[in-house]
Amino acid sequence: MSLDEHAEELASDLGADRAEVRQKLEKMAEYNVPIEEARQSVRRDYGDTTEQAPTKDLGEVSTGDGSVGVTVRVLSVGKRSIQYNGERQVIFEGELADETGKISYTAWEDFGLEPGETVRIGNADVREWEGEPELNLGGSTDIERVEESLQVPHEIGGDATLAALDPGDRGVAVEVQVLECESKVIDGRDGETEILSGVLADETTRLPFTDWEPRPELSEGASVRIENAFVREFRGAPSVHVSEFSTVTPLEGGVEVADSAPRHSIGAAVETGGLFDVELVGNVVAVRDGSGLIERCPDCGRVVQGGQCRTHGAVDGVDDLRVKAILDDGTGAVTVVLDEERTAEIYGGGVETAREHARDAMDREVVADAIAEELVGRVFRVRGSLSVDDFGATLDAATFEPVERSPADRARDLLAEVGR
Ligand SMILES: [Zn+2]
Repeated sequence: MSLDEHAEELASDLGADRAEVRQKLEKMAEYNVPIEEARQSVRRDYGDTTEQAPTKDLGEVSTGDGSVGVTVRVLSVGKRSIQYNGERQVIFEGELADETGKISYTAWEDFGLEPGETVRIGNADVREWEGEPELNLGGSTDIERVEESLQVPHEIGGDATLAALDPGDRGVAVEVQVLECESKVIDGRDGETEILSGVLADETTRLPFTDWEPRPELSEGASVRIENAFVREFRGAPSVHVSEFSTVTPLEGGVEVADSAPRHSIGAAVETGGLFDVELVGNVVAVRDGSGLIERCPDCGRVVQGGQCRTHGAVDGVDDLRVKAILDDGTGAVTVVLDEERTAEIYGGGVETAREHARDAMDREVVADAIAEELVGRVFRVRGSLSVDDFGATLDAATFEPVERSPADRARDLLAEVGR
């Protein structure tokens, strides 16, 4: 903006004489007063008491701030519709950065923000979102384009790998292969709604996704670029949400997918609060109560104890097989849950075999005992979904296999034994 344009804008804002305003601006320009300060000074001269929020670097913005002014580079712009006070409202959200830091924002009006542009934002309200400060841009916010680009140590645009996504990310773009995809009908706020849900993968990891506006491009085996998606938390792990404003473009080449899950120590995995796809290796130190031949409620599938479902009261339980094994690697422990199929492999028989076994022994516990004998004291490699809550860490196993000790390891054990 030229000095003339600043003068024009201010004069019309303040109802003042344009030539007079220009003169004031010119004088301050001679003394190298930055244009923003000069504008505020002119406003004060004309008795405009519109309070301008203090200008800050993003690194200094904290949840204790009321309102701030910042000069930033727009990293990403996501568009989404939400229900606000009972009405549908379209909002814009993403990330902003300067040399000192990065911050999320929500814009309640369309300011026409574009990724890559540098803007001065006046009067942005600071809110707390998941413990971090976030900028809210609304009616009292003004936005000015700045010609000179701010250099920031962050990538422009929302491109990310699945492993780099965190709950709360918005305006993200990923290139993925659809591993699983199914259509579901849910009871949404507008009645019955069809959605898609499934699993996405790239070379870094797998994540679950939901498409709120089912589209044919998302089908099993397809490789696609998804733009303008947002990320929420599902059982402690990130989940990718595709909305009506997202775009999905088929990719010619096909996206490479990792065969194995990222391997973590148990302690580090639990520390993350949840991982959709992870590989853990550890010793089974115990098989917990509620393993072996169990009974489930025919209505809700919950485990029945003493013929009682917690929700449905007295029910005729349905027999099932399950294992809850404690896996420990010295850094931490998780409860690994094995379903009927995996339990039957370890036990060496299905529900029918287990029922006979229990009848002969006149004790259902014999099934869990037999499973414990197979597992306890051995090392296993487990792949699955980890969730962490107040009751502890649980890994729903997709694969569960014994780790055979290498001949070299066995030789070392033997030598240690002999040397004793
Ligand atoms: Zn029930």
